Amino acid sequence: MNLILLFPDDFVGDQRVRLTGRRREHVMHVHRAAVGDALVVGVGGGRIGTGEVTRIDEEALEMRVALREDPPKPLPLTLVLALPRPKVLNRVIAGATSLGVKRIYLINAWRVEKSYWKSPRLSEENLLAQRTLGLEQARDTTLPSIEIRRLFRPFVEEELPSIARDSLALVAHPTAVAECPRNAGQPVTLAIGPEGGFIDREISSLEGIGFTPVALGPRILRVETAVASVIGRLF
Ligand code: SAH
Repeated sequence: MNLILLFPDDFVGDQRVRLTGRRREHVMHVHRAAVGDALVVGVGGGRIGTGEVTRIDEEALEMRVALREDPPKPLPLTLVLALPRPKVLNRVIAGATSLGVKRIYLINAWRVEKSYWKSPRLSEENLLAQRTLGLEQARDTTLPSIEIRRLFRPFVEEELPSIARDSLALVAHPTAVAECPRNAGQPVTLAIGPEGGFIDREISSLEGIGFTPVALGPRILRVETAVASVIGRLF
């Protein structure tokens, strides 16, 4: 936790916050903070700064906060992600959030196993927890949105064209002829396939609305590595 994320409910005064539960435990046992120590804090959707520990007791930890900086700039990238295996989902959501992605669509694809849609990891609660971990990791404060679309075709035909409008639309695909560009210099909409890859028909649908299939070289990467690698090239 490189930043303690604060929410309006944590404030007990203008600049005073009171933390209980996971964040109190973490500050006490991982940061091993004592009264007088200063930690990096940020307010959900707002600024970042420091929190000076003013009190620790059995129930809560109190800090006096001073918020002086803006969080890092968001990444101008919309991620369209075929739903991965539940364990991988957690890593991809936290990782993409830490890289600054602010808009994520989780979509179905032919090679997404149906059982993945029943996973408790898709719960509002878990998706919030993973995004929070990503923000805390990256010292950011603004949660990305996550939208779930269970039907590939209607999403691609009816919604994706307007989502991708005015952006460079790319679908990462290992067998693509074109190499993934470097330094996009503009907003990007990036589609990432399931662990088995997109099927030809899905690639054609995406091409039909202006997406270019791009490859990252001869190595087949894991979903989370592919996301990080594309983002590293483009921004
Ligand atoms: N077995 C699949 C690989 C899927 S990897 C196949 O051979 O197609 C999961 C996803 O990560 C892919 O759909 C793609 O979006 C991305 N990816 C992984 N390695 C890649 C590479 N070398 N180039 C482009 N995209 C890649």
